[in-house]
Amino acid sequence: MSARRLDGKARAARLLGEVEQRVRACSERGVRPCLAVVLVGDDPASQVYVRSKEKRAAEIGIEARDHRLPASTTTDELLALVAALNAESAVDGILIQLPLPPQCDAQRILLAVDPAKDVDGFHPDNLGRLMLGQPRFVACTPQGCMLLLEDSGVSLAGARALVIGRSTIVGKPMAQLLVHADATVTVAHSRTRDLAAEVARADIVVAAIGRPEFVRGEWIKPGAVVIDVGMNRLADGRLVGDVEFAAAEARASAITPVPGGVGPMTIACLLHNVVLAAERRAGLV
Ligand code: NAP
Repeated sequence: MSARRLDGKARAARLLGEVEQRVRACSERGVRPCLAVVLVGDDPASQVYVRSKEKRAAEIGIEARDHRLPASTTTDELLALVAALNAESAVDGILIQLPLPPQCDAQRILLAVDPAKDVDGFHPDNLGRLMLGQPRFVACTPQGCMLLLEDSGVSLAGARALVIGRSTIVGKPMAQLLVHADATVTVAHSRTRDLAAEVARADIVVAAIGRPEFVRGEWIKPGAVVIDVGMNRLADGRLVGDVEFAAAEARASAITPVPGGVGPMTIACLLHNVVLAAERRAGLV
């Protein structure tokens, strides 16, 4: 068997098309969706991420306001900026690009973002709402994974789903979404005793570890659906996921490639969250 590839690029393009139409509907109401992007310091990877988020936003008519601050910025300075953006009625979403420099208290800063503008879905208020099954904003990467699972055609109700990784930005919200979709969910992490055995019985595997090709293809249950969140740059420059792709592809029924799987979905879901915030401002939802 060779798995169907779940094409994140194509799915993201479709989602962005829908978001663009909704941006237009907001604009007709006199509301131009606006995302404020805060980047502190000059981490090259963060600069690339921010550029691509702003480029995609501009392409579909979302205004991106750039706030670039020096690496020496203090927590208090950032808190002052966040307070100003919270108060600015034309700003729908606030994105604080992580990681922040070590002198900045990331927890305090993320907590200061108005939950109604927290388009990353990282604020405790939004994580709590997700846990209650009443999300305001769903964290972008898990939201994208759910759309790709939908594309796979797998029936989530009653399925055994394994989420590998328990970070606040991917693993934990992903597990919540799967629970609410009626899957039977296991969360694995670095202290899990027998990861191979957990993978072998899973109908759905979502890998968010950050270790190149760590999940062996031979562990995958035949016919399982594999969502690979990992993005690992190898010494030779290649980008690979957390799953041994070629061997997993031979056993799975559907699998996301890296690149071109989850990655493009994350940005599209971010912009989806921004337009959702703007629709609330425009009274459309
Ligand atoms: P993270 O915060 O570093 O979390 C990694 C998780 O993997 C932790 O929960 C850790 O367990 C677990 N882990 C580490 N070693 C393990 C092992 N040997 N067996 C089982 N679990 C293990 O990373 P993250 O932010 O969630 O990101 C994970 C990956 O996804 C990274 O490659 C990142 O680049 C990628 N990512 C991609 C996107 C995208 O848009 N495609 C978005 C976000 C992240 P402990 O909790 O026990 O330490």
